[in-house]
Amino acid sequence: MRAMVFTGTTPELQVQEVPDPQPGPGQVLIAVEACGVCRTDLHVVDGDLTDPKLPLIPGHEIVGRIARLGPGTEGPPVGRRVGVPWLGHTCGVCRYCQGGQENLCDAPGFTGYTLNGGYADRCVADARFVFELPEGDPVALAPLLCAGLIGYRSYRMAGEVQRLGLYGFGAAAHILCQIAVHQGVEVFAFTRDGDVTAQDFARRLGAVWAGGSSEKSPVELDAAILFAPVGALVPAALKAVRKGGVVVCGGIHMSDIPAFPYRDLWEERVIRSVANLTRQDGLEFFPLAEAAGVRTETVAYALEDANRALQDLRTGRLQGAAVLRIADG
Ligand SMILES: [Zn+2]
Ligand SMILES: [Zn+2]
Repeated sequence: MRAMVFTGTTPELQVQEVPDPQPGPGQVLIAVEACGVCRTDLHVVDGDLTDPKLPLIPGHEIVGRIARLGPGTEGPPVGRRVGVPWLGHTCGVCRYCQGGQENLCDAPGFTGYTLNGGYADRCVADARFVFELPEGDPVALAPLLCAGLIGYRSYRMAGEVQRLGLYGFGAAAHILCQIAVHQGVEVFAFTRDGDVTAQDFARRLGAVWAGGSSEKSPVELDAAILFAPVGALVPAALKAVRKGGVVVCGGIHMSDIPAFPYRDLWEERVIRSVANLTRQDGLEFFPLAEAAGVRTETVAYALEDANRALQDLRTGRLQGAAVLRIADG
């Protein structure tokens, strides 16, 4: 099969012909239709995340069809449309798995990082961690698998909100904005200063206000979610939230957070991160996305153009989400 392979020596992925993976017990073989390109993939190839398996096939927003079940595997039948997210495996026995926090598992497997992912014609996945997905364009569905899920988990961690700030208006924010608006929440979108295209995009998706991240928020926010990997936005967002308000950091990697006065945290403001996802998040999120009529904005690339997709994400010239179209749905 064709695969885009990260060797660890350069950020450039290599196009390779590799043998088809074989599903073991408990696993399924998936014919990949589309795979989203996530900022985390950039953090992997750029070396910000330091422990990938090598060589690695990246990609953790996988949409495809079950091609074969491994020996003794119970899972969706051959032909069924499924998705594979970042959380690819958990141990099931650690205190986090036992306590309903499998996203924090001590011995996890991460798709496209410690497990091979979906920048390929086929992949294997743990049958317990695939989500059944609806029919429709696989490219449109792919961003839901990480941008959507992590955005949703971040939103849950923000608590009950009426006025929500989103810092960084890319793949995750453009999905979450639609869900929040559907639920009657007022969304305030903070983009790179001067990025009027992203600001127009946010307003078009229902944000009541959009501006640059160095602008003062026009209202006191109940919570803010940071999708941009920029640590300096943490103190900025903290200034924008009300007493008891929450600042949620949704990314896996962020530049250092500069020092700030304690009075900005005072009055029970909270800073927290969100790590990974649970299967329960998916069971809640996918029906909600459907009910909210979420429409993803995507830019499709061929599998062999994965490096170009990563570069477009790196330079911030994308509107919406980059997705590799690997086979016709
Ligand atoms: Zn565990
Ligand atoms: Zn991701």
